[in-house]
Amino acid sequence: MKSLTILGSTGSIGQQTLEVADHLGMPIIALTAFNNKDLLREQTAEFSPETTVLGSEPGGIDAIIDVAENSGADIIVTAIAGEAGLESTLAALRTGKRVALVNKEPLVCAGELVMQTAREFKTEIIPVDSEHSAIFQCLHCGAGQAGYTKPKQIKKIILTASGGPFRNKTQAELKDITPEQALKHPNWTMGKVVTINSATMMNKGLEIIEAMHLFDVTPEQIEVVIHPQSIIHSMVEFIDGSIVAQMSHPDMRMPIQYALTYPDRQPGLTRPLDLTKLSGLTFEKPNLDIFPCLNLVYRAAKAGTQACATLNRANEEAVDLFLKEEIPFTDIPVLVEKALNALEK
Ligand code: MG
Repeated sequence: MKSLTILGSTGSIGQQTLEVADHLGMPIIALTAFNNKDLLREQTAEFSPETTVLGSEPGGIDAIIDVAENSGADIIVTAIAGEAGLESTLAALRTGKRVALVNKEPLVCAGELVMQTAREFKTEIIPVDSEHSAIFQCLHCGAGQAGYTKPKQIKKIILTASGGPFRNKTQAELKDITPEQALKHPNWTMGKVVTINSATMMNKGLEIIEAMHLFDVTPEQIEVVIHPQSIIHSMVEFIDGSIVAQMSHPDMRMPIQYALTYPDRQPGLTRPLDLTKLSGLTFEKPNLDIFPCLNLVYRAAKAGTQACATLNRANEEAVDLFLKEEIPFTDIPVLVEKALNALEK
């Protein structure tokens, strides 16, 4: 049985990864958290890792990097949120072991460096983000015995988005959205910043940048489609016009488990999908007046890594201000756009 190290075990994905590891009977080598001491202590009592690290303690961040690189686990799950996740992800990539990549920021802020490090150390990156897991699975289906579809056989990636809670609102209504309203997501249970990013669709935007690096496609080859039921987690259209989709109930334990068991499959924790009980699957184009973040992302993605990193940082700051009720919801894209404009001057 393969062993696991989880960087960021007290976050939403970290906790669900432990649930899946428990279900699969995988031994836990190391757990790290930033400041949730109590939960880390509970997890330690339950899973008996060899090492635990609390990042907020003196020398904690260095200790996390050390665990990422030297824990000796077969699979390292990198789930440290925000820009702080980059260094730990790069350290994990230097092991040559499988990296189950959860956090978006490393690919968003330093996509070339991340992919280059993976190539250099022959490290397998298996995406955990549900859409990228779906795309990864579609690419393995479309390839027959070759195992994996070559990028040049991909016509486009169809990235599905639930559209979040505000897809039918008008711009005027969006102005008065409170953090409390924005923190309610209809289909997925996630961390705070990710939930706000889903409401602005910046989350989908960051996923465009992620997909571009992971699957070696251009931003123009990635199309975002609103699919409110969140049953199809993304699709790949191949150059012959065939489209492959991956479906399941929305449940992060599915992509987490696939990243741990790939290329095998094991019985999972997600309830089976009964197609005859679905009322319908619908698809629509995103309204760019309601979701200006998407256009900002395409602009940054075409401009390059520095613009993507700037976009991400400006967005993190803007979301923080919104959560503190210092700016209205609709100012999040305005601040991001200002940051991109300043970069181009
Ligand atoms: Mg996602």
